[in-house]
Amino acid sequence: MPGRRLRSSLIARSSFVVVAELTGGPGFSFAPIEGFLRASQEKGSAGIPEGFEFVGIMSPQNPGGTANIAPSDVLANLSTGGLLGPLDFIPHISCKDHNTDALISSLVGFRAQGVESVLALTGDKPVSAKGVFEVESVGLLRMIRRMNHEVYLTAKPDDLASVKRFYAGAAVSPFKYSRASQIQQYYKMEKKLASGAQFLVTQVGWDWRKSLELMRYLEDGGLEVPVLGNVYLLSTTNPAPRLMHDGKLPGCFVSDELYGRLQRESPEQHIERAAQQVAMYRSMGAAGVDIGGVHDYEVFVRILKLANEIGADWERYKDNLCWPGGEEFYLYDDNGARVALPPRRRKLRQRAFNLAHRAILTQDTPGFRAFRGAMRLLGAKKGKGFVYRSFHAAEKWMKYLAFDCEDCGDCHLPEDFGYCTMGGCMKGLDNAPCGDSTVNGRCGNDLERVCIGDFIYDAALAEPGGEQLLRERILPRRDPALEHTASILNYLFGLDHTRKRPLMAVGDALSASSPKAGAVMRQLMEMGPQGLARPNAPLSYIRAVIESQADEGADAIAVNVDAVAATPGELGRIMAQYVGLVRK
Ligand code: SF4
Repeated sequence: MPGRRLRSSLIARSSFVVVAELTGGPGFSFAPIEGFLRASQEKGSAGIPEGFEFVGIMSPQNPGGTANIAPSDVLANLSTGGLLGPLDFIPHISCKDHNTDALISSLVGFRAQGVESVLALTGDKPVSAKGVFEVESVGLLRMIRRMNHEVYLTAKPDDLASVKRFYAGAAVSPFKYSRASQIQQYYKMEKKLASGAQFLVTQVGWDWRKSLELMRYLEDGGLEVPVLGNVYLLSTTNPAPRLMHDGKLPGCFVSDELYGRLQRESPEQHIERAAQQVAMYRSMGAAGVDIGGVHDYEVFVRILKLANEIGADWERYKDNLCWPGGEEFYLYDDNGARVALPPRRRKLRQRAFNLAHRAILTQDTPGFRAFRGAMRLLGAKKGKGFVYRSFHAAEKWMKYLAFDCEDCGDCHLPEDFGYCTMGGCMKGLDNAPCGDSTVNGRCGNDLERVCIGDFIYDAALAEPGGEQLLRERILPRRDPALEHTASILNYLFGLDHTRKRPLMAVGDALSASSPKAGAVMRQLMEMGPQGLARPNAPLSYIRAVIESQADEGADAIAVNVDAVAATPGELGRIMAQYVGLVRK
């Protein structure tokens, strides 16, 4: 796929990147996408203002949880019709209706067709089908990172620069108005970045203070990641504002006030608001925008032209871009200072859970050893027989009543501070929350429930060191082989995700004595000081060596640089650089 690339544009940052998000029409119609791209080809880049770069199109996958033309079919149609021209194609990859095998197949197919950038999403809950969610956005990003590692690790040292790997992005929503929902969104964003996300796309939202909050949060945390602001042309010419206002599109919010205003405005005023939002994101330091809800290329260009005219003057339109909701939680005050966040208290159920866990389920305690010994003596370790089945039945019903347990067999209750993200979450996520909660923290897929992510946040805050644990801990995919087995026994006998190796595992692949690693290390040395400081293909290979060993459970990584160092002084210097990489 020749031409423009989102990745290189976001890395270069020499212009303001623009991406158009194009969805198919009713009845799996390709016509809206085709119409937009035909007009784009006819006009060329004439009309796109200087300083803006229309890089490519994003293709959502079954948006809103409703079946639609698949991104792979969109790409096939575009290729057959020669409609993409110089534009990049960025598919959404979501976990809603694909298990892990299907996700890998889909990614491999896209890679073979030259797709480089993808947006990795948990995805909307299917409206009329069963959701899959075997992994969610964090698990998907880790899967993509593993695939990237594999291509590096199997390439020849001289071919590293030409390996095809993914440039994966992730979504983030700053448009939450309960403290728990908002902070959880930021923590989840950090987990996505730690799992390999290289750019961010915001959720749609109309509150400039929230957009600014996200940019401040990233700056505060030293998180240098390109952000694409999501600009949706909210117009009464289509049903989107009503659906967002009525809570029919989980995670998207249009307040009563904004909805009322939209009814009184002309379509031209709707276009102006979109342009003001583009100018706002540009002034706030976003790398670009992802423009949705526009299938008329002329309107698309008009939004960009108006945004260019507004330039840095967007603050004149603050009132037109400020439609908050709920309790109006903001993380920063008007002076840009972080607001103080009071601690939370443990609830009775949390105390009871902690007590029970401490008594018999905290590893390396006398209670744990006695319980495990008794279960082993009774033959429960065999995973069958009367004792096992009786225990499993009792556990299942007791945990169903107490925690909404769904018998996954690979229990995350301790890590989630006593909340089950299978029964307690409408998507059954390994790493809750998704981005669907309402402005006041209810589940966007079942307004009767509080989002499980809010409960977990409040419980984490009540534990000493709990918030830091919540912020950093990434839970692995639940083992599907353990479904409908006794999770407590799986835990006791080291069969679930908490299992420890009996011996310490040391990864020894980062060795200059190995022919390939040694050749790549020499390439890096030939590049001089920039070799280990700037992104480049050999460095990506070294990262793949380190991260893949860590992913496979290495407790330590051995570094051997003897064969590439000429003197003891050089040995110390190179060793320090590689140890720094491992630590990073
Ligand atoms: S409970 Fe929260 S995390 Fe689960 S689906 Fe609902 S909004 Fe998403």
